[in-house]
Amino acid sequence: MNKIRLSKSTIGKEEKAAVLAVLDKEFLGMGEEVNFFEQEIKAYLNTKKEVMCVSTGTSALHLAVEALGLNEDDEILVPSLTYVASYQAISAANVKPVSVEVCEDTLFIDLADAKNRLTSKTKAIMPVHYASNGKDIANVYTFAKENNLRVIEDAAQAFGCENSMGKVGVEGDIICFSFDGIKNITSGEGGAVLSSDETIIQRVKDARLLGVEKDTEKRFEGTRSWDFDVKHQGYRYHMSNIFAAIGRAQLKKIDYIKSKRKEIVQYYVENLNSICEINILNFDYKNIISHIFVIKTKRRNELREYLINKNIECGIHYKPNHLLTKYKSESLPTTEKIYEEILTLPCQLDLTKEEQDIVIKTIKDFFND
Ligand SMILES: *Cc1c(COP(=O)(O)O)cnc(C)c1O
Repeated sequence: MNKIRLSKSTIGKEEKAAVLAVLDKEFLGMGEEVNFFEQEIKAYLNTKKEVMCVSTGTSALHLAVEALGLNEDDEILVPSLTYVASYQAISAANVKPVSVEVCEDTLFIDLADAKNRLTSKTKAIMPVHYASNGKDIANVYTFAKENNLRVIEDAAQAFGCENSMGKVGVEGDIICFSFDGIKNITSGEGGAVLSSDETIIQRVKDARLLGVEKDTEKRFEGTRSWDFDVKHQGYRYHMSNIFAAIGRAQLKKIDYIKSKRKEIVQYYVENLNSICEINILNFDYKNIISHIFVIKTKRRNELREYLINKNIECGIHYKPNHLLTKYKSESLPTTEKIYEEILTLPCQLDLTKEEQDIVIKTIKDFFND
């Protein structure tokens, strides 16, 4: 039996044709394809925010943090249970990530714990749409308002999702998406920053092109700046036309992607719900496109080994960041307990019903259900 894959990219003839078309035009850098991709994302979300595409989701977060213009030693509250990219983006900008607990039922940032960690240096909060769920995001904005904090949403896993504030990226302060190979839509590698704050927009637009002022507009016209000024640190974080072309082709498939991922998750929920040793997370699965499907069980390690032995890949999202040498802090008991229990099951567009039935049956066999 072939291995049942946890996650993978799914690329069709449309993406391949789009890449070939860019190659044929022989303009590979940041040009009109990127402009079109940005406009199409804006239209899809129906947002008034500026959409700025960059090289990765991590660079999106890094530029978002830098655009806040914080001082060294300023602090950003971030849940420890996230991809290390969230933390690296904060520390890359010389700001301190402060680890916060997550809630047991949603694995979303725990605002009661966040409150205890506020200091005079706390300037922002970075909620993570873990496993695409952001149903409590409005509470983060209330908390931020009360405490005078900026909000950078790590929505790397939440492109196309909806919550009480509407579609992710329509409302809010600064929202960052990822389009890496296995995210809800991919551009190969890529990400985007969304904001309607003019200062943030200008900083991000310039910083993705080495800080060269107003270079974005020039590049979209197929030219570049020869006489320019630079006022801030910048990076080569722009997106290439090749990647934008893949992203544009993927965006056209978003309705299919949405229904397929929902179908997979719905089927897991229906079939695993009855197993009392399994905890299904408290998400509004009908409103999200699940990038990953995570369950909790006290027998996680045993189950994981059992599945791996049956050729079923599974994952652990994530090792909490406060346990890593670079970001070590005092213990976060809830997060550490959750870390022992979480297991990510195969969820990708090429997962067949037969394969999913095998995953479900294997889990039921394990629990003698
Ligand atoms: C994928 C991801 C990122 C980083 O995005 P890349 O495009 O891979 O750099 C950041 N945060 C979370 C939660 C992610 O899942």
